[in-house]
Amino acid sequence: MQPAAIPTDRNADIASQVVATMRQLGVLGLPRNYEIFYEALSGSNHELSVAVVSLSNRPTQDDLDRIGRAFFPQHHGPAIVEHARDMIAKELEDIAALLRNERTHIEKYGRILDETSSGLSNRSLLSQELLHKIAGAMSAATNSTLDHNRQISSTLNEKTAELESVKSKLEEYKRLADTDPLTQLWNRRAFDKEITRIYNSNRGILFNALILADIDHFKDINDRYGHPVGDRILQIIAEIFQSSVRPDMFVARTGGEEFALIVEGASEDATCEIAERIRALIEQTPFTSSQSGINYGTVTVSLGVCMASEADSPEDLYTKADRALYRSKVGGRNRVTRHSATANRAGKGWLLYKKD
Ligand code: GH3
Ligand code: MG
Ligand code: MG
Repeated sequence: MQPAAIPTDRNADIASQVVATMRQLGVLGLPRNYEIFYEALSGSNHELSVAVVSLSNRPTQDDLDRIGRAFFPQHHGPAIVEHARDMIAKELEDIAALLRNERTHIEKYGRILDETSSGLSNRSLLSQELLHKIAGAMSAATNSTLDHNRQISSTLNEKTAELESVKSKLEEYKRLADTDPLTQLWNRRAFDKEITRIYNSNRGILFNALILADIDHFKDINDRYGHPVGDRILQIIAEIFQSSVRPDMFVARTGGEEFALIVEGASEDATCEIAERIRALIEQTPFTSSQSGINYGTVTVSLGVCMASEADSPEDLYTKADRALYRSKVGGRNRVTRHSATANRAGKGWLLYKKD
């Protein structure tokens, strides 16, 4: 059997559809709008596609931002960062006012000390009564300064706690912005950063590999059993991915039913073995309803493997692994294909594993 023609870039079609659709609906060409339409038209998130389809013919930016906030937590980013920035600015202003006030207070204390010490140096005028007065003034000034310091210390503690809460909010935002809410795996945004990191060091290029996986006929599962069942299957597959590799390995859900695994420090053969192990585990996992006992049948995934050293850039690595995955699809699905076996080769040579 001859392999089907491989498109050079299957994302290119979606990209041009996105531009055309946005133009037709009069949507501003903002990156956040592009992200919504790209995800919706790629069909990677069913609920998002439904939300976009139900938009009016002339959606407002508010309508789009509402969708953005619901489906892309990172859209909250600017608002959270702005709020945090305002809060930090206010806290710093309060602390500066506190320090100014402290300076005035210390200056006043210094003046009292000066006056009393000059009184002490004028020995001829010292009398019991005067000594008593000087001691009283110094003690009152010292007590007031101690009180003042105690107040400052407690206000500074409050300010520190407020700044800590801003810090933890920002950390929470950072975690949210990089996490897929359904599976708790890393999301596409985190994946893009991680894959870029590989190409920022020579060591990364030598020691990393990318495994991409896509669930086979997932649309049929949704159509037959409904979206919630599809969601649960996505969660179980995410758990299989996560539990079959070292905890420090980077596992992401990069799209609707697409997963990516960055393998560090493994040869090409070892990486393919990991991919094959995951493939076999998913195939062997019984997908049944815990309540009704309904058997949802076998679920399988197709995988593509590419070594970082075989690509020139993060985009190239993704494209090559995706093409290898596509080969697994056209080769019959439920299999692993390595990029090195697909490059410049015809015939069946590119099939690494065959189910039957
Ligand atoms: P193939 O074997 O060629 O990959 O076929 P497929 O049906 O898996 O691929 P296709 O791209 O046609 O369909 C992907 C489906 O994934 C469409 C969409 O409804 C579903 N999907 C995407 N995101 C989600 C999600 O978050 N939850 C659920 N339940 N389904 C989703
Ligand atoms: Mg699929
Ligand atoms: Mg897909």
